[in-house]
Amino acid sequence: MYVTDLPDDTLLEQLRAKYERTAPGHCPQCGTVVEVEPHDGGYPLPWACPVAREELDAARARGASQEELHPLLAHWESSRWEDFRRVGDRRVMELIRRYLLLREEAALSPCDDSPDATPGLTA
Ligand SMILES: [Zn+2]
Repeated sequence: MYVTDLPDDTLLEQLRAKYERTAPGHCPQCGTVVEVEPHDGGYPLPWACPVAREELDAARARGASQEELHPLLAHWESSRWEDFRRVGDRRVMELIRRYLLLREEAALSPCDDSPDATPGLTA
């Protein structure tokens, strides 16, 4: 089957599966959803607990001792996860979102070609 023959929903599902950036889940220590860490743009994509990252950065900024840093580092390291598979593509996900929005709007006003049907386009 050619790509052009695929039903919309099948095509969307395939694109989602390929380009959705899947979050690895929650921090095992505090339960916060882990986030992508600052990185150089190459593989792998690093994830870690944002709470741990923030506390660690703040502690380092005020020159905290090794004893203070140790539990914060342990928290951060326990949540750290590297995604070697793929990095996702937010542009594709945004395009899917916009397409679904258009489709939804079209479904809400079927066969209505009065000028009022497309607010914003009639000024
Ligand atoms: Zn955490």
